[in-house]
Amino acid sequence: MKLNLQIQDKYTWLIKEKPCVISGPCSVESEKQVLKTVQAISKSGKVNIIRGGIWKPRTRPNSFEGIGEIGLKWLKDAGRAVNLPVATEVANAEHVEACLKNEIDILWIGARTTVSPFAVQEIADALKGIDIPVFVKNPINPDFNLWIGALERINAAGINKIGAIHRGFSSFDKSSYRNLPMWELPIELKMICPDLPIICDPSHIAGSKDLIFQVAQKAMDMEMDGVMIESHIHPSDAKSDAEQQLTPEELITLLNQLQVRKSGCNNEEFTNNLEQLRIVIDELDEELINKFASRMAIIEKIGTYKKENEVTILQIERWEKILKNRTFLAEKVGLSNDFIKKMLELLHQESIRIQTEIMNKK
Ligand code: PEP
Ligand code: MN
Repeated sequence: MKLNLQIQDKYTWLIKEKPCVISGPCSVESEKQVLKTVQAISKSGKVNIIRGGIWKPRTRPNSFEGIGEIGLKWLKDAGRAVNLPVATEVANAEHVEACLKNEIDILWIGARTTVSPFAVQEIADALKGIDIPVFVKNPINPDFNLWIGALERINAAGINKIGAIHRGFSSFDKSSYRNLPMWELPIELKMICPDLPIICDPSHIAGSKDLIFQVAQKAMDMEMDGVMIESHIHPSDAKSDAEQQLTPEELITLLNQLQVRKSGCNNEEFTNNLEQLRIVIDELDEELINKFASRMAIIEKIGTYKKENEVTILQIERWEKILKNRTFLAEKVGLSNDFIKKMLELLHQESIRIQTEIMNKK
């Protein structure tokens, strides 16, 4: 499949030199906070676009929901002070109008909005006839078509300065990331639409300061066009996402450490492609390990129940059912019978070992 979008060449409106760096606070909180943050981060000469959230879509009620329209002026003034364009998140037509009134330069659609075609269409309708760059963050769940659908709706409204933001995907499983990167999704997007700029948002993937560099470096190694990283003059006072915002100094150190490898020449291209695929493998293996851990935690619960109810560990009908059902599922997705059987045997052996340990506990 190819994604047919009308895109203006990214080097004419977005990228001077890779990476394109978007930074600023998660939320605009006060005139002083945004100005001080912006002045400090722009000193590096490495920030290209200032970000700041004005309306914050919070998962749970009773948290800071954004300063509202007044903040647009503070954001724009801060951008003017350092001569940089400013970007913010919009979730409905009213937001779009307020941004245009306040001369906000770039808009983005947040992960919780991309999931709603009605909301995306409302934004697209409000953007008809307007020439402004728009980024679409991936939806919170790993639904590739929702991401593409939102890009198509915005593009169909006539927006051709368009890009995607990869901010990771939420998961019920425990993980060291706030949102799983699932690099295979942005890679797929790159494959079906090579001209579309893709910016990685390591802040929302990592969720904590210490993982941001690693994610940003991976994004660079996968030839993403840039990074969106949250920064705050006093992260510990931040009204949203305090754990993941960097101080201006931390941001500058990170940007100085980022290695941007060139792609291009023949042999290098092969090496880069290989490296990208290996990064995906690393990521998938990590997910597999996390899944194994979740599976074994359930096995422990089962073992305890069986012990309490004096039931045997091995239930042969259950094991037969598992084998039959999993080989059927595996065949459907093209995995070899032999491989899945070996894999299941191993899992089963380990489950039995864990349950035996529980049974033997005094
Ligand atoms: C944000 O950028 O602050 C934000 C709310 O991001 P997301 O939509 O990715 O959760
Ligand atoms: Mn945030």
